[in-house]
Amino acid sequence: MPETLAGAQLEADAGVDPDHIRVLLVEDDEVDQMAFERIVRREGLPYRYEIVGSLGEARELFRSHRFDVVISDYHLPDGTALELFDRPLSMPIIVITGAGGEEIAVQAMKAGAYDYLIKDLERKYLKILPITVENALKKSRAERELRMLSHAITKINEAIFITDPEGEVLYVNEAFCRTYGYLDQGILGRHRKMLWADEGQAPGDREVDLDGSRGGEQVECLHRRRDGTTFPVLLSRSTLELSREEGLAEVGVVWDITQRKRSENALRESEERYALAARGANDGLWDWDLRIGEIFFSARWKHMMGYSEQEIGSSPEDWFRLVHPEDLSLLKAHIEAHMEGRTPHFEHEHRIRHRNGDYRWMLSRGLAVRGRNGQAYRMAGSQTDVTERKRAEQQLVHDALHDALTGLPNRALFLDRLNHALNRSRRRDSYHFAVLFLDLDRFKVVNDSLGHMLGDELLTAIARRLEACLRMGDTVARLGGDEFAILLDDLDRTEDAVEVSLRILEDLQAPFHLDGHELFATASIGIALSVTGYERAEEVLRDADTAMYRAKSQAEKRPVVFDPTMHANAMTVLRLETDLRRAVEREEFELFYQPIVSLKSGVLWGFEALVRWRHPERGLVYPSEFLPLAEETGLILSIGYWVLREAARQTRDWQQRFPRRRELGVSVNVAGQQLAHGAFVAQVDEVLRETSIPPESLRLEITEGVLMDSPEATALVLEQLRERQIKLHIDDFGTGYSSLSHLHRFPVDTLKIDRSFIGALDARGENSEIVRTIIALAHSLNMDVLAEGVETRQQLIVLKGLGCEFGQGFFFARPLEKSAAEEWVARPVHF
Ligand code: C2E
Ligand code: CA
Ligand code: CA
Repeated sequence: MPETLAGAQLEADAGVDPDHIRVLLVEDDEVDQMAFERIVRREGLPYRYEIVGSLGEARELFRSHRFDVVISDYHLPDGTALELFDRPLSMPIIVITGAGGEEIAVQAMKAGAYDYLIKDLERKYLKILPITVENALKKSRAERELRMLSHAITKINEAIFITDPEGEVLYVNEAFCRTYGYLDQGILGRHRKMLWADEGQAPGDREVDLDGSRGGEQVECLHRRRDGTTFPVLLSRSTLELSREEGLAEVGVVWDITQRKRSENALRESEERYALAARGANDGLWDWDLRIGEIFFSARWKHMMGYSEQEIGSSPEDWFRLVHPEDLSLLKAHIEAHMEGRTPHFEHEHRIRHRNGDYRWMLSRGLAVRGRNGQAYRMAGSQTDVTERKRAEQQLVHDALHDALTGLPNRALFLDRLNHALNRSRRRDSYHFAVLFLDLDRFKVVNDSLGHMLGDELLTAIARRLEACLRMGDTVARLGGDEFAILLDDLDRTEDAVEVSLRILEDLQAPFHLDGHELFATASIGIALSVTGYERAEEVLRDADTAMYRAKSQAEKRPVVFDPTMHANAMTVLRLETDLRRAVEREEFELFYQPIVSLKSGVLWGFEALVRWRHPERGLVYPSEFLPLAEETGLILSIGYWVLREAARQTRDWQQRFPRRRELGVSVNVAGQQLAHGAFVAQVDEVLRETSIPPESLRLEITEGVLMDSPEATALVLEQLRERQIKLHIDDFGTGYSSLSHLHRFPVDTLKIDRSFIGALDARGENSEIVRTIIALAHSLNMDVLAEGVETRQQLIVLKGLGCEFGQGFFFARPLEKSAAEEWVARPVHF
């Protein structure tokens, strides 16, 4: 129902009724007004309308009402309809003019009218009113939509460009101008090719979606800005039919993907870097998803055991079933410990079965990834083949424990086995053992007359014969030179030891046929029995040695069993002990200084302080003659303290008098007893305070054996010394054993390779394998290497070549008296 009441109209305006068109008729002619109302009513037009008779009333209504369309007579009492366009109107206006008003109509259209109607006498124009209104509405809606869309497209963040079928740019939005650096005039009308970094790469005009029906395609490509710089974009292209004649335009939407590319590249680079690193290190990789219990093994991982990609599955069992049964439980324990957070990382060495059946040593390392609750949900790591290193280590250990010539166990290994036997005899009363000390008679004659080669062959042959005499469980060792020791294990009766000895002597009597010579060997054997109740292995050996001397000195060839009266010899020892005590009281000791040279710079790096005893009657006595007794009697503690203080004092004196030598160092030998003595660190502190020597000038030499005897206690003392910046050197390195694997636990600065290894080096660099291995080992543990006993230039050259840092030995200088050492300090010597 059409309404004319302004009040009802106002209320209805609150909610727009989509089924009704809100019409304002501005018409001063009442007949025309009535004609309008009539046609609305008659045709049932869905209009809600207002009728006013002047511009003023119309303007008044606009304040409170909105209309979908305004129909206005041109001539109005207070002006023309054109004046309605003074202000921007959001609604379309249809102008009605009198008959013959075409010119006015054109003017109105120009001014912004949507359409016009021309009055005729029969008022037929009202017939086309409904269709005119409808068209005006459609047009106005389309215009609004266009305005909104064009605003949105202009302001959107993605760069948009539209090209005509020839590829010339018709339209660009603001984002486009920003992104590419063009003002729109600069690009409009140009060919889109110029957007591509490489014009040759620009896609052809006909390539995309020519029927325009599909949504278009997306490509990643490199575009070029106005200033020539390029950047990666994601380009979405689609087509749009402009008109049948004009053909297809192309719409391009562009996303700048510089950031994404950058992070993609960074990710790829870091992945590649890791892969490269892993490949470079020849490591295999594994990645274990603990939630689903699956492991990814890299191809390299599988290949390390000789398997191809498909041959190993992806479960932990596929790993574990290859691990050596003896190593498996420990490996699992290590993994578990890390998963449970008890270790900062997982690391374990174990054997893994290669496809060819061999076992190889692998170092496996890994790290767990934990969720917020600390629970590991993933663990990943690497595997390194360390078989070669293991072999070298084992070889080194073997070499350190065995005599190179005969392959027999050496003194160290023998003492170790002897210690085991001692322990067992303490635990079990019924267990007995014996030690035979065997020394060849007149071996020196063979050596001197027939030469070393034959002497060596004879020793080897004797070693084989000794082995043949023994039972399983017995040990025969070469102690050095022509001395052998035999451990007879688990004897039923102690008399058996004598019987075995007699049998050995008998077997040795058969001639040896070597190199066309027929040689005879005789030997003297001393026996020590476990029943004597020994504390230390060395004591057993010493007594067997004493008994051997007795055997050698008697005319008849028969073994001699040690008995305590033989300690009568001890009288002389007692004498020495009294002398030594006096020497300590009177400070009859003197220090000699042997230069240590830096092999890199060729200059003096420091001295080793070596103690001598200035005996009132016997003259200069060497350490080998009194230190064993000093250790036995505990006098070593006093002597050692004196040496430490004197060495520090002298070195400080030199440092101060010769400013160029401010960093001169001194190496002081420290006996095991000193280290074990509770007061040692306090003594060191006392010396540091008293002499004011910089602690880093002080280098304490500790033998490998001492280090191993009680590693825990020693480690503690060494830690305290390290805290004081004092340097620690491992003396006689290579002669002890089992220390290799433990070495990293100690704060060691320098390994001092035992002179026996250096002495074996010859001009062609042969016998350098062990030295090379030790140096590599030391360097891998961040330690320096000092070679002692350097006697020839050839040895020096080989050592330099192997990267050894320091050298000491007769080639540079013998141990020097204080005054001679001072000349070294005063004058630069260069090697
Ligand atoms: P060491 O610590 O291995 O000391 C090096 C020994 O090798 C010294 O013998 C030195 O004279 C000798 N030497 C140096 N260069 C060469 C060389 O080129 N060829 C050969 N064949 N030998 C060389 P020294 O002075 O008789 O000392 C023997 C051992 O006595 C030392 O062996 C060390 O273990 C111990 N010692 C020496 N002084 C002290 C000390 O003050 N305290 C303690 N606890 N032990 C000491
Ligand atoms: Ca030493
Ligand atoms: Ca040494």
